[in-house]
Amino acid sequence: MLKIHVDMEKCQHYGQCVFEAPAVFHLNDEDKLEYAATADDSQRDDIQLAIEVCPMQAIKFVE
Ligand code: SF4
Repeated sequence: MLKIHVDMEKCQHYGQCVFEAPAVFHLNDEDKLEYAATADDSQRDDIQLAIEVCPMQAIKFVE
């Protein structure tokens, strides 16, 4: 099980993470980011890509 944290103080809701890992991240009806705090290990590569593309470096795995 993976644990994910997004620093919502940094997040600017650009949505790049949504394209990389749509099973974990999505934009709600108000274009605000929502995400799953936990994800299956099979999502690791997608989440890693989301971490890399996030322009605000707001996403990280929680150890
Ligand atoms: S890519 Fe980063 S800044 Fe953009 S919505 Fe995702 S977490 Fe927020």
